[in-house]
Amino acid sequence: MIISVASGKGGTGKTLVTTNLAASIGEVELVDCDVEEPNSYLFFPNREGETSSDCTVKIPVIDEDKCTRCGRCSEFCAYNALAVFPQDVLLFKELCHGCGGCVLICPEGAISEGTRPIGKIFRAGSGDVRLLWGELNVGEPMATPLIRSVKAEATGDLVLIDSPPGTACPVIEAVRGSDFCLLVTEPTPFGLYDLSIAVQVVREMEIPCGVVVNRSGMGDRGVYDYCEREEIPILLEIPMKREIAEFYSRGVLFSQEMTEWQERFAGLIARIEEAIR
Ligand code: SF4
Ligand code: SF4
Repeated sequence: MIISVASGKGGTGKTLVTTNLAASIGEVELVDCDVEEPNSYLFFPNREGETSSDCTVKIPVIDEDKCTRCGRCSEFCAYNALAVFPQDVLLFKELCHGCGGCVLICPEGAISEGTRPIGKIFRAGSGDVRLLWGELNVGEPMATPLIRSVKAEATGDLVLIDSPPGTACPVIEAVRGSDFCLLVTEPTPFGLYDLSIAVQVVREMEIPCGVVVNRSGMGDRGVYDYCEREEIPILLEIPMKREIAEFYSRGVLFSQEMTEWQERFAGLIARIEEAIR
């Protein structure tokens, strides 16, 4: 079962939920797909066997001696990643999506496939939890190939995906293929607005979803009324408590200190199984 944890925006408690859930259920793979700012692994300081490898994407390599500057590759590229000048051909690497089309279209066989690194994939273990995370190179605009590669490494029976914030392409790539999506929100008008957009996205992708209300007890009833109206189950509420925030700010999993929460997080999995049955 693949469960993704998402939220319409950052700072709602997505990582708080994912990490505490992973630590409470054990025998799970936690995949941090927030590749611009991965931080789930920091909550597991006793990591062991950490390894890493480069994540690369394909790029065209042009043989200037064979190239006749015919311009076919530039005309073909839908991403405007190639520009042909009388003297040479320029590749804008950041725009290239590595589709390989220019390699096939070149009449002179002047283009071959090379690779360029866009980030790193990390792996480690912490007790029963296997940690996987991606780290995008600074200035690299394309997160989705790295997200895809990190997800591909998760092959266990239970996979938890910590998605990037927002509702743009990286989130869609992270959530794609999930059996269930947990949407973390806070009970405020801002939380409601972002939640409603996230719900539209996962419904469009035909992924069943449920809500975790973080910092419950603050704000208003808008999120609760919305969930009732839209028939979205609220599966867990985490109250607005100073000690929970303090544990989080110190990089400590609050469920390990306030142990009654381990059962509550474990119960969340049972409720998800019930919801998708
Ligand atoms: S299609 Fe091939 S020959 Fe034509 S400009 Fe591009 S690389 Fe050169
Ligand atoms: S591989 Fe695809 S995206 Fe990249 S330059 Fe060639 S045609 Fe454009």
